[in-house]
Amino acid sequence: MEEAVIYVRVSTKDQNSDRQILDLKKYSKELGLKVVNIFSDSISGYKKGFNDRENFNLMIEYINKNKINHVLVSELSRISRQYIQTVNFIDDCSNKRINIHIHKEKLSTLNADGSVNYLVQMMVGLLSSIATQESETLGYRIKSGRQSEALKGKSYHGMLYAYDKKDGYPVINEEKAVVVRKMYDMLLQGLGCRKIANYLNENYKDQRKWSSASVHSIVTNPFYKGQRRYLDLIIPAPAIVSEDVFDRAQTFIKERFRFVSEAKHINPFASFIFCQCKATFIQTINDKNRTDLYKCSASCGVKSVNRAYLISEIKDWLEHIAKRSQDKQERAKFNNQIKVNEATIEINKVRISQLKKMSQKNYDLFTAELIEEAQFDEALSRYNSEILKLSENNSKLTEANNSIHIGLENEIFHYSDNLEIFKSQILPIMEDIIVDEKFCTVHLKGFSMFYFEIYRGHDLQLYRNHLKKFGKTVPFKPRVIYDDDSNLQELIENYLNPY
Ligand SMILES: [Zn+2]
Repeated sequence: MEEAVIYVRVSTKDQNSDRQILDLKKYSKELGLKVVNIFSDSISGYKKGFNDRENFNLMIEYINKNKINHVLVSELSRISRQYIQTVNFIDDCSNKRINIHIHKEKLSTLNADGSVNYLVQMMVGLLSSIATQESETLGYRIKSGRQSEALKGKSYHGMLYAYDKKDGYPVINEEKAVVVRKMYDMLLQGLGCRKIANYLNENYKDQRKWSSASVHSIVTNPFYKGQRRYLDLIIPAPAIVSEDVFDRAQTFIKERFRFVSEAKHINPFASFIFCQCKATFIQTINDKNRTDLYKCSASCGVKSVNRAYLISEIKDWLEHIAKRSQDKQERAKFNNQIKVNEATIEINKVRISQLKKMSQKNYDLFTAELIEEAQFDEALSRYNSEILKLSENNSKLTEANNSIHIGLENEIFHYSDNLEIFKSQILPIMEDIIVDEKFCTVHLKGFSMFYFEIYRGHDLQLYRNHLKKFGKTVPFKPRVIYDDDSNLQELIENYLNPY
């Protein structure tokens, strides 16, 4: 069991540190850590500087001397009320591979593999500004008003549908708000997210393309009833629907989910099979008239596909690919791709840490009043957007590598006839299935970055396929496979940069 220390701080002499210590001891057990020492200060971290905090410094000496890698604190404001000191301390600790566990947010500054938790870094800024706000209410004078902007409703990221960003605040975009209200309306009339998405795609053509997932994300986000949530904080935001409408919508969604999960037939391709018209292909089974097929949910005219045929064809192909993945040359090619991806990830990481240092400098200059707020903001958003881009690229590369690993380690040669098992077998490798008049095109993730097309079946094909399985030769249209080296690189590029 790894060793840890607890650091607590109470801001006035009346406050009791026992409660904090008790909670942190409990938390250490959850984390599987053994507490070997407790340090406690009872001075204000804002009024006095870091150096005046005797036990804090003793704690740092102690962890360095005894090679302790874990510090437990109840919240970030217990480290310091000053942004710069908090950030410096966290950075120092990260460099020394010391993990700080923050109980209130249930967060650790380092990931299990020792890498820095970027989410924590991003949150340090906002959390510290909240700590500063706290200082203000305690009667301390604060230097700048900008730190509490998040609490005033500012610092909106600008990415939520139907909200524009104006001077950092979320502002309702009335034209799009109409669409949001329509969604809630339809939901309360008993329509599911998929049907709502199809309706919107039909009737609001100049808008974005909706999917049931994107509709779901809007009808469950409390931002739309005016509650912007950040950790356990609720910051007021302009509401697009009333609280009553939102809450009733949640009840509807829960009921629908219960209904759907009780459905009798498993759809192994649910959520990734689409018609060429972009609508979902839905599974239709009716035992009475022996219907067993996939069809376009928007009834655009594309013919339906026999469900049993499609499942069995895709199953055959996956087994073919699994066998192919055992081929030496194929394996070498994919192992190479992993290395290229890993190198790119490393380069991106170096650039990210460079950008963070630049961002820190930028902040120092601003707090030293050497640059204007506008300059500070401009640089900050520039650094942040590059960091975000690189991080996104890295997570894509990581995802691609994971998929390649899945492919290479894939011991599945035989995909199950049990649809529930089959579904879980294909879930990690499926990108999507697109059905058009002639073909079903199956895109696989990562390892199998090629795609293949299946001649769409009808009863005759199904019959021939059936015969073929029993060793009888029948004329059958050959399946087309696109996976030669010449376009593999291109397909990888497309995968990594879809836009
Ligand atoms: Zn269609």
